[in-house]
Amino acid sequence: MPDQSHTHQVSASVEQRAAAIEAVFDDRGMKPRESVEELERLADEQWVPQNGARVVARAWTDSAFRRRLLTNGREAVLELGLSMPAHHRHLVVLENTLTLQNVIVCTLCSCTAFTLIGLPPDWYKDLEYRARVVRQSRTVLGEMGLHLPPETEIRVWDTTADTRYMVLPVQPPETVGWPEEKLAGIVSKDSMIGVARL
Ligand code: FE
Repeated sequence: MPDQSHTHQVSASVEQRAAAIEAVFDDRGMKPRESVEELERLADEQWVPQNGARVVARAWTDSAFRRRLLTNGREAVLELGLSMPAHHRHLVVLENTLTLQNVIVCTLCSCTAFTLIGLPPDWYKDLEYRARVVRQSRTVLGEMGLHLPPETEIRVWDTTADTRYMVLPVQPPETVGWPEEKLAGIVSKDSMIGVARL
């Protein structure tokens, strides 16, 4: 038996692996290209952070809705005509305050409440963010441009397959009284992940 302990396992590139999987689907008469294109269309047109922004704006302007949202997010977003896939069984909305910053991560992979806040940014999927935001949250947020005073508590929430999170950012005081549509325009995806304030 030859010593293989020093043999390098050369993996195919991501593109080569994707092509190989696609070829297997093709052989079986399945059409991955069409499914992928449909997913891309949904991601571009329907799973956009403007959905979550509308939820945030409504919560800022309607305290009864805000309470329903914090109690049962999944049911509350239905009121705005928004929905989540069946496997997103729970939507937990995390309310920030001046002294509390909630932050979302998926330490296992890249899960988000994507029908509401959009698909995860590339940095959200990086091992760097997933590993470090848990242990060095204040430092990581600072590196991302969010410098929080020491008295601000940071809570990091790890997404699971069936529990999705969305951060309810603090409304900037100068925007109180704005119409809902205008408020929705200032709510960013990053603020709903919790790595930015508004
Ligand atoms: Fe994940």
